[in-house]
Amino acid sequence: MGILIDKFGRAITDLRISITDRCNYKCVYCRTGNEGALYGDLPFEDYLRMARVLVSMGIIKVRLTGGEPLLRKGVVDFVRELTKLKPNAYGTPDALVGNLQADEGARLSIANLDIALTTNGHLLAEMAQELKDAGLSRVTVSMDAVDPDRFARITRVPNGYDHVLAGIRAAKRVGLGPVKVNCVLMRGFNEDQVIPFGMLAREEGVIVRFIEFMPLEEGRVWEPATVVTLDEIVARMAEYRPLVEIAHERSETARRYRFDDGVGEIGIIAPVSHPFCGHCSRIRITSDGKIRTCLFSVWDHDLHAQMRHGASDDELAEWIRGVVMKKEERHHIGEPDFVPASRTMVHIGG
Ligand code: SAM
Repeated sequence: MGILIDKFGRAITDLRISITDRCNYKCVYCRTGNEGALYGDLPFEDYLRMARVLVSMGIIKVRLTGGEPLLRKGVVDFVRELTKLKPNAYGTPDALVGNLQADEGARLSIANLDIALTTNGHLLAEMAQELKDAGLSRVTVSMDAVDPDRFARITRVPNGYDHVLAGIRAAKRVGLGPVKVNCVLMRGFNEDQVIPFGMLAREEGVIVRFIEFMPLEEGRVWEPATVVTLDEIVARMAEYRPLVEIAHERSETARRYRFDDGVGEIGIIAPVSHPFCGHCSRIRITSDGKIRTCLFSVWDHDLHAQMRHGASDDELAEWIRGVVMKKEERHHIGEPDFVPASRTMVHIGG
């Protein structure tokens, strides 16, 4: 089966699957604080079939996300099943293979699917070893303050900080690395955490990645002034130690930096101030089985409905090819014609 290419010539190689939109944290910049899921989830065998068809069409990276993916019973077995899918390297353009081998984890082999997971880390310490044994390649842990009290205020959950730090350390210990720690900075909440995260990167040996706050929150509080931009992060970090930019792959979302003494890596994902839509290689499947071609899509494409109506794998593939052709050229954050996405981040899968 030929690989997936959209109408702007972007190869789609990266799939994110949200396996639940429930979350045990209520981060202030993400959720309003309400409980529970809005959309429900599917049996793992349905996600597995979707992944199998998409892997046969050139997907080589699958990231499990949510909501909080570690809340979902059976996630370890799901990872094990995913490892049995073999990427369709045949017919992959040389340029793309070049990208893959040098890509972020530097572990990608065209022979095996790269399986990653994004988690808030609360349950990671107890699950890291079994996830590794099941074949997970690496984890990204979200963490928005290096301070227990601030962390509790942001997540609106008491005592989470120690769990998350233990999760990060367990992930490193069992070899789910390079461990990345994602931090969303929001003005008025945690922009003073830039330097503490720089120290964390150096002391814990993790790659800290700052993500610019995007208008994807339930509370609709985003405005340009709430975004702590790439330039501001680099300038603040320089008050501690200067950063030196290092090469990153075109398809990589993060700009990469090392400290001037070579110890510690920082990434900055700047979709607002430095958009990278032209190199986007991602599509997403929501927990209820809809394809989203962009975080900022104003509609979903109901893949699960196709399955319920009895489509064969070949029919699903053709349908997916048509959906990918509708992938948006870019987001319009901050522009007068910006229309908010039809779902917020927790219900899409970040
Ligand atoms: N529960 C998992 C976690 O905490 O990583 C996975 C889902 S969470 C929605 C995925 C990522 O999206 C987290 O790193 C979170 O900080 C980020 N995120 C949530 N809302 C965001 C927003 N409005 N702008 C940028 N990143 C956001």
